Amino acid sequence: MSRPIELVIHMDALRHNCQKMREAARGRFLWAVVKANGYGHGLEHIVKGFAEADGLAILDIGDALKLRRLGWKKRILMIEGFFDEEDLEPIQEAGADVIVHSERLLSILEHHKGLRLGCYIGVNTGMSRLGFRPSEVEAVRTRLHAIPGVTSYGVLTHFANGDPSYKENGPATVGRQLDRLGDLANDPEGACLAATTGMLFHPEVKGNAVRAGIALYGVSPDSTVSEKTLDIIPAQTLRAKIIAVQHIEKGEAVGYGSKWIAPRPSRIGIVACGYADGYPRSAPNGTPVWVEGKKVPMAGRVCMDMISIDITDFPDADVGSWVELWGQHIPVNEIAGSVGTIGYELICSVLPRVPVRETEGTL
Ligand SMILES: *Cc1c(COP(=O)(O)O)cnc(C)c1O
Repeated sequence: MSRPIELVIHMDALRHNCQKMREAARGRFLWAVVKANGYGHGLEHIVKGFAEADGLAILDIGDALKLRRLGWKKRILMIEGFFDEEDLEPIQEAGADVIVHSERLLSILEHHKGLRLGCYIGVNTGMSRLGFRPSEVEAVRTRLHAIPGVTSYGVLTHFANGDPSYKENGPATVGRQLDRLGDLANDPEGACLAATTGMLFHPEVKGNAVRAGIALYGVSPDSTVSEKTLDIIPAQTLRAKIIAVQHIEKGEAVGYGSKWIAPRPSRIGIVACGYADGYPRSAPNGTPVWVEGKKVPMAGRVCMDMISIDITDFPDADVGSWVELWGQHIPVNEIAGSVGTIGYELICSVLPRVPVRETEGTL
């Protein structure tokens, strides 16, 4: 038998979340952002789960071709543009659109023959990652219009602080970024402004297209707002079975570094998931897992291939019990919070040795 661990992809959750984000798009063109292999869910699954989206946004050129092989017929957007001139050939073969975000990319387009390409103009309004300054946009647009075969879809920008728990009156609030964008926010050619947080928390952000990411996967973009509140459903469950049980005496230790000492005679479940599966090694004692309908605390350090949990008070938990590390009972943001990161990082961190399985409904 193979190692009892799996990443379960909930197809009904993907479809439900896509429907929710369709509603949040309020008539705007819905790009589903599927970079990083669909935030770790697998392009072959999300292509079916997000069938109702208007387009898919990615950044690896190989993924554009893969999406076509998987049967995706609608639009594809390269959200980091392209990296070199040689990328233009496969991008056109895939029939994908791009973001032009730098002078370098613009001049490559100007010197390339035989283009047929749709372009957004990437604008830096405060994120300072990719994009032209708002004052440069009209000159860029004029040059784009002069390139045969290139269609302009208007402007695209990205917010640095769209989450409601960002309370500071800092240099890049959504309001300030919109101010910098000025009239371009109503660009007649189009404006693709909001990602998940803009869609859910900032009705003042308009435009004719949106880019939904994390919420499509059923994870809240802000750990202070629950998935229930947003009416989205976690689309991935990482789970593994208990493969052994240890009975230890009071005062005995568990794991590397002996970081957990039994305060009483204890039953310890050994679970077939470790940091080489993508579970964070920094998860401390007490980090919750879900077993036989209950939250159970971790005991001792995360190993490469195993973790240990304190099942002393949970007699139902035994060899063969499934243990949910995160998913529909343990929000991934809860684990992320206890290791100093965000749910985004964990859902795309599950490693290739973990088998992936599609399912309908809850487990
Ligand atoms: C990743 C990304 C998104 C999606 O962000 P979410 O917070 O997951 O909705 C949208 N736009 C750009 C440019 C991105 O890089």
